[in-house]
Amino acid sequence: MEHAAPPAWVMLAYLISGVFFILALRGLSSPATSQRGNRFGMAGMLIAVVTTLVTHEVASLPEILGAIAIGGGIGWVIARRIAMTDMPQLVAAFHSLVGMAAVLVAAAAFLNPVAFGITGADGLINPVSRVEMGLGIAIGAITFSGSVIAFLKLAGKMSGAPILLPLRHLINLTTLAAIVGLVGYFTIDQSPWIFWTITGLSFLIGFLLIIPIGGADMPVVVSMLNSYSGWAAAAMGFTLHNTAMIITGALVGSSGAILSYIMCKAMNRSFISVIAGGFGAEAAASGGEAKEQRPWKRGSAEDAAYMMQQAESVIIVPGYGMAVAQAQHVLREMADVLKKQGVKVKYAIHPVAGRMPGHMNVLLAEASVPYDEVFELEDINSEFAQADVAFIIGANDVVNPAAKTDKTSPIYGMPVFDVDKAKTVFFVKRSMGGVGYAGVDNDVFYMDQTMMLLADAKKMCEDIVKALQH
Ligand code: NDP
Repeated sequence: MEHAAPPAWVMLAYLISGVFFILALRGLSSPATSQRGNRFGMAGMLIAVVTTLVTHEVASLPEILGAIAIGGGIGWVIARRIAMTDMPQLVAAFHSLVGMAAVLVAAAAFLNPVAFGITGADGLINPVSRVEMGLGIAIGAITFSGSVIAFLKLAGKMSGAPILLPLRHLINLTTLAAIVGLVGYFTIDQSPWIFWTITGLSFLIGFLLIIPIGGADMPVVVSMLNSYSGWAAAAMGFTLHNTAMIITGALVGSSGAILSYIMCKAMNRSFISVIAGGFGAEAAASGGEAKEQRPWKRGSAEDAAYMMQQAESVIIVPGYGMAVAQAQHVLREMADVLKKQGVKVKYAIHPVAGRMPGHMNVLLAEASVPYDEVFELEDINSEFAQADVAFIIGANDVVNPAAKTDKTSPIYGMPVFDVDKAKTVFFVKRSMGGVGYAGVDNDVFYMDQTMMLLADAKKMCEDIVKALQH
């Protein structure tokens, strides 16, 4: 049974929603236009959902509305309850749902191909549909199990350090080759064992690929899984003959792939070595050298206020700890007071600062920090040498010089801010014991020009603002 092509107006409506999604991505490429981008995205989604509801007799309207109410209700509660710091793992969890949805759609189509209109005159599933289904289930299952591991690692329920299995490259390559071979074989033989073996092996490889990745490579994994979830949705679109899903999936898939590429470049990693999982991680995993006791200086809010008032230029480097403390608002207040007193203030954002791409940009935008004061790594790094003060607030790995000098470090090769070149460095964190995501010590703590401001970031900024105002 061949599937009839949908009416022209439906195709047009899906095309229009696709155009809205492209405009949404365009808007989201800059914080200044991101709200408009989100509105385009919502409009596109509304058109796509309404068109699908009107034209598809997949289920009765009450059933569909009931499912929307349950899913939407759960999403609403989660979105209201979630702390901003838990967003990265929430995003990973949502990616896993997209993967699982692709698996379920492919499984439903395999079990009842007639309902999906994908059978030929001989009653067998069309070979093209089998390829779509095989790829859909493989990408969906990899996205699901990979995202579950990413969720556990980001939520701190599993160590962020790489977990290296012996012979992992051989096991991974063999499993991948088996999946590709079986997807090919599925086009000539649609036996259930082939379908379910592809499913099982894909769940396994998603798990195996992500488990050895740790430390500095996690940002790439997050954006890569984002990309996979897009391709999984596109594959579902083919199975369901839904153009809007194919367009949207391809948009998410390709923008995620571009983001992964940008993250790889930012981290100075090759894409292949990251997806192959844990290449070069041996040194990091076996590391953990005992921390030597080295002298360091402790500063106070008053010291910081005094030094920054005297400064001509201050560069603020925010990181994950700023997000934990929700210090962005009072940080902006601190910068405002300094600016009023004639100090030049700039913010330096590292591409992997925080726990998700764009994390710091979102927080600073939320605190209404002017966009023209926010600079990317390559645009500001040379300015630290002229800066009077580098004010590091909750960042750690992104300012760690070990990335430049220590070949055994898990962050080796990643470009970092040259904060060591600033005349004075203030380092806000809660304790000397706490480490960054990659779990390594930081030489900046012990430099002559560094003063450690040990406190919660928000509390420290509040105290500095008070001291500045006196
Ligand atoms: P880090 O994780 O390196 O460091 C965070 C710092 O914040 C620590 O020094 C911690 O020290 C401090 N901190 C935590 N809570 C507070 C608080 N309430 N007040 C003050 N300080 C606090 O952060 P970076 O942003 O520098 O680096 C990001 C790391 O995360 C990189 O390794 C990156 O690879 C990884 N990553 C990034 C992702 C992304 O997409 N951006 C995704 C996944 C991982 P203490 O505990 O002592 O307070």
